[in-house]
Order: sequence, then structure tokens, then C-alpha cells
Amino acid sequence: MSEFFSPYDADRPLMLKCSCGREHSVVDHQAEVAADTAAIELRRRSLSSTFEAYSNEFIEATLVKAIFPQDAVRRSFLKAVGKSTAMAAIASVLPVANMQAMAQEKGTLEKTNLKIGFIPITCATPLIMAHPLGFYQKQGLTVEVTKTAGWALIRDKMINKEYDATHFLSPMPIAISMGLGSNATPINVATIQNVNGQAITLALKHKDNRDPKNWKGFKFAVPFDYSMHNFLLRYYLAEAGINPDTDVQIRVVPPAEMVANLKAGNIDGFLGPIPSTSVRSTKKLALFTC
Ligand SMILES: [Zn+2]
Repeated sequence: MSEFFSPYDADRPLMLKCSCGREHSVVDHQAEVAADTAAIELRRRSLSSTFEAYSNEFIEATLVKAIFPQDAVRRSFLKAVGKSTAMAAIASVLPVANMQAMAQEKGTLEKTNLKIGFIPITCATPLIMAHPLGFYQKQGLTVEVTKTAGWALIRDKMINKEYDATHFLSPMPIAISMGLGSNATPINVATIQNVNGQAITLALKHKDNRDPKNWKGFKFAVPFDYSMHNFLLRYYLAEAGINPDTDVQIRVVPPAEMVANLKAGNIDGFLGPIPSTSVRSTKKLALFTC
């Protein structure tokens, strides 16, 4: 029996309505329940002491990584002086415990109603999920998170002060502050959400042509002019002897439209963020090259 009608379910009315009384399908109802259950579990975990310890360790590891950007240097330092001396030495220059305590201190909020923009890509998850998980509310903030069509629009809405905050591609705040591609407007970076996670995706018809030396004449998409995607693609092509300005076309396409453009044959490939790059496994359209 299909899940759409349940005539022998005593709790369910025989109407074209969900048993919860709302106008939606069983599938939508189940998706909503699953999302609510997941949110409850994530909220519970975020309040546990294990999570607190994990986030403190994460902060400490990040700080140590900043002191020793090269793993080999960190390892030889640890081997030379021993773990406890290293910890004491680092604590003398980096009062981690004080910094963690400082992060817990609550000052008066300058503004409590905030509008935050995002592009629907995987790396925006922390910014988006903080809303249903109640993290903004917990800090005394009423936040409206707004899905936005592309990076140029994100930039303009930040410059016009329509948005109070947004996630950005890492070169964007620098470009905006310097007035590259827009009026010079100072932008502050509060936190880095993530690094890496990019890939080049090519149309399936190029599956036997993975050598960038042969990519002359290709049309590529990147999310924005001032993006690591654009810079990485240019670097990768140039290393293979392809002039990114004259040998290929690089155009700006919002991440959400990259797959459709690949499918329609408008582009040969793109360097984009997840989930655009996950198309390979879901639609059998494309392949990863790097
Ligand atoms: Zn329902």
C-alpha cells in the first residue's frame, strides 16, 4: 500500500490532509519531522559538556596551527622540548584559557535585529543553521537569514547596508575594502568559516580529456571575479601553459546555476563550491579532475 493513503490507520482522517491536520503530503510531513528531530538532537549536543570541551580544543588547535603553520616545524619543536614544556611555552605567549573565558563574556549588544545574507552552498551551513538551532536567539539576537541569488548581489546589499552581515568569498572583503569592482567600502571579517573544499568539475564529454594542457577554447564558470575559485582556476591553467585571459573563457555564474549551465552545454566546466561539485554522484553529468 502506498504511503499517500492509509485507510486502515485509526489515527488518520480519510481526507486529503496530513494526519497532523496540515495541508501537506506524507513525504513533506516526514521530512519536517526528520528536520525537527535533527534540530532537537543538535541543540542537545550543543549544550553538552563534550561539545564545550570539543570547541575549546578546536580553538586551541587553531591557535597552535597559527603559530606553527608547518606541521614539520611543530613536530620537531614538540620532539625537542617535550609536550608539557611546549604547552607552557605556548600558554606564556597565548593565554588560551583567558581567551576562552573572554569569549564567554557578554557585553551590551549594539544591535539586536540583524539581517544576514547567504548563498545556498554548503559552507554557509553554520550561518543558516544557527537560526533553526536557536543559537542567534540564545545570544539575544533576532536574525533574518536571507537566501541571495549571487555574490554581486551580496556585495551590493552589504555596501547599501541592506544586510548587517553575510558570508563572503575570502577575497571579497579585501576587494570591497580596496574598491576593486565597487566603491571602496571598509569591511571587517569576523571569522573564517572554512577553507578549501573546491574542485574543478568538467562535463562528461571531456572525461578522457583531463589534462589542462588540452583545455584551450574551454568555457569555464566561477562564482565571482574576486573568488579563490577564479584565482585557483587561473593558476592551474597557467601552470599547464594555458593563458587564462586569452586561451579560455571564464565567466561568472552563481553556484546554484552552475550545474544547469553544464547540463545545457553553455560551459565545459566550472571551479565551484560544494554542493555544485557533488553533481557527479547525483546526476552522472560530470567528473572531478582536481
Ligand atoms: Zn503533517
